[in-house]
Amino acid sequence: MTNYIPRPGRQTGQTISWFTPTTEFSNVCCVYCGVTLHGPCAPESDKEHLVARNFVPTGTMKSPAFNFIFRACRVCNSRKADAERHVSSVTLFNSPSRFESAHVNEIALRKGKSDFHPNKKGVLVQDAHENLTIRGAFGPMSVSFGMVGPPRLDIHKTGELAFSHIQGLFALICTEDYQDPLKMRLLPQEQFIWYDWYTYSDWGNPQAVEIAKRVNSWECLANIDSAEGYFKATLRQSDEGLFWALEWNQYLRLVGGISLSRMSVFEGLPDEGWMATPEGRMRQNIPHDTDSDQLFSGVVSQSE
Ligand SMILES: [Zn+2]
Repeated sequence: MTNYIPRPGRQTGQTISWFTPTTEFSNVCCVYCGVTLHGPCAPESDKEHLVARNFVPTGTMKSPAFNFIFRACRVCNSRKADAERHVSSVTLFNSPSRFESAHVNEIALRKGKSDFHPNKKGVLVQDAHENLTIRGAFGPMSVSFGMVGPPRLDIHKTGELAFSHIQGLFALICTEDYQDPLKMRLLPQEQFIWYDWYTYSDWGNPQAVEIAKRVNSWECLANIDSAEGYFKATLRQSDEGLFWALEWNQYLRLVGGISLSRMSVFEGLPDEGWMATPEGRMRQNIPHDTDSDQLFSGVVSQSE
C-alpha cells in the first residue's frame, strides 16, 4: 500500500505556507517532482500557490480562503502554470456563474479573448466552439441537425492540473516535517487514478452520484471550499485507498483515487444511459440535485 500517515484536520483552515524567502527554511523537496530544493546543487525554485490566484475569479482568494503555499522547482511551476491558464480560461468561459455575476462574466470574456486554445492552432478560447452534427432517424424520417458545443478542455492539461492539486493536498496532509526529506510524503504518478470528469450540466450523472454515495461513509481527511466556492477539493480514506474530488470554477468536477491497485468504488457503477447513434453514441446530461448533493459534504475530524 501507499507509504503515508495522514494527519487529518490540518488542512481545513486558512492559508498554510511552507514557503520562506530562504530556500533552506522552505520545504526540502519539490511537491510535484520530488527534486531536492536545498543545497548548492538544487535547481532554481520559486513560490507556488496550490490554487493560483488567477485560476479563480479575481478577488475571490482574499483571506481567509484556504490556499497552500510552498516552493516548487521552476520546471514544475511553469508546467503547472500553463495547465492552469488553459483550464481557468475554459472553465470560467463555460461556467454558469457568468449568468449570476457581471464580474465573473467580465473575467471569463477577458480570458476567452486572450488565451489561445492548445488544440486549435491560432484559435482563441472564445472562438473554440465545437460544431457537432447529430443525425438520427425517427420512424421513416431521417433528420440531421447542427449544434454548437462550448470550448472543450484539453484532457492532458486537465489531468496535469488535477494531479498537481491532489499532489499538493496529499503532501500537506501526509507530510510529518517538510524540512526533512525522509518525512515529506509525495504522491507518485503511479498511485494517481483519475476516474472521470463531469461538466456542470451533468453533475447528476448516475455514476457520479453513486460514487459520492459510496464514499460518504469514508473518513474525511480534507474538505476544502475556497475562493468563494470557485475551488473545492475533498480527500477521503478507506481500506481500499484514498478517494479525491475536485470542483473548478463551478463548472467542472473530477473524481478519482489514490491506490496502487484497482479500487472497487469505481467498479459496477450504474448505467449512464448512453444511446447508440449512427455516428457513435449520445446521452442526456443530468443536472445535479442540490439538496442531495453530497460530494463535498464531508466533515473532517479535528484530531489536532
Ligand atoms: Zn519539480
